Amino acid sequence: MQQSSIQTKSLPSAAPLMANRPRVADPLISLVVPCYNEADTIALFVAAIDAHLAGHQIEMVFVNDGSPDATLHTLLELSARDPRVVVVNLSRNFGKEIAMTAGLEHATGDVVVPMDADLQDPPEVIPAFLERWRDGFDVVYGLRTDRASDTMAKRTTAGLFYRFFNRLSQTEVPANAGDFRLMDRVVVDAIKQLPERNRFMKGLFAWVGYPSVGVGYVRPERAAGESSFSYWKLWNFALDGIVSFSTLPLRIWTYVGSLVAVMSVFYASVIFVRTLIFGRDIPGYASIMVAVLFLGGIQLMSLGVIGEYLSRLFVETKRRPLYLAQGVYRNGQDVTDTIGPR
Ligand code: UDP
Ligand code: MG
Repeated sequence: MQQSSIQTKSLPSAAPLMANRPRVADPLISLVVPCYNEADTIALFVAAIDAHLAGHQIEMVFVNDGSPDATLHTLLELSARDPRVVVVNLSRNFGKEIAMTAGLEHATGDVVVPMDADLQDPPEVIPAFLERWRDGFDVVYGLRTDRASDTMAKRTTAGLFYRFFNRLSQTEVPANAGDFRLMDRVVVDAIKQLPERNRFMKGLFAWVGYPSVGVGYVRPERAAGESSFSYWKLWNFALDGIVSFSTLPLRIWTYVGSLVAVMSVFYASVIFVRTLIFGRDIPGYASIMVAVLFLGGIQLMSLGVIGEYLSRLFVETKRRPLYLAQGVYRNGQDVTDTIGPR
């Protein structure tokens, strides 16, 4: 990617007069990298970091999200060679959002950057992120200015999702911003306090707030391996996001119900008047069927929506730990002292 494709988007607010915390000259940058079947990409990832972030203090927190391939083996070998590497080995596949949370909890840097292992989040943008951080912004998020690497269908559905999400939810999630961002320690500590099990990270990142700014970048193709997100997974992901950040789908049924009730009172008076004028008329099978089926459908739908919320409530009330780590490794040694920080 060319340096020229990096431009700063119009600021949502002017740069803060004073940063929350004084900016250290040479911050420790923690890269948080969730890995699921990334054995082929890890070496490429580290090479790219070395090429583009030479001269910076780096910590790389890799989270092995229960990969069945050689990811763990590759990571442990790497950690034995490279003191900058931390490996968090989850006990099974927990999904990207939770793997990222595990990584954030183990990162010790002054600033933290969640990144995909496949180099779709280009490390050459990080110096531009750092610059905005030095200006006083606590969150600098990457904005995909060009989604040419995504299919048409994915771009359209993603666009629709952000529009719909921001309509429904009080928490504004910038469209075309992924998880790739630089966060100050203050922000990471704030996110670590959010206890929910349902981790829609883009929403949680937005919810904590703090002075934020976007930096545009072009999202390249996956470096190697293949994407593990199917459309069904993405649909469920979108549903999780909406249900965690909006209660409108629950409340809307009050209004739908009221509307139907008002309409039926109106219709009743029409029938009443008509009967007075023209007498009783027996036919009406079709209209009864339509009304019964329509209302039955609406009732099932609203029950389904309640079910979506209830099932999440159920998951939250169990208060299980978010994840279990089988081991945390530095320098090839297991340094775990507790199993899971929660
Ligand atoms: N990932 C993960 N757990 C999963 C699925 C994915 O940790 O269950 C990681 C994956 O290794 C990668 C990142 O999440 O670092 C993004 O995944 P992918 O590239 O498959 O998604 P896409 O770029 O197609 O959205
Ligand atoms: Mg990818």
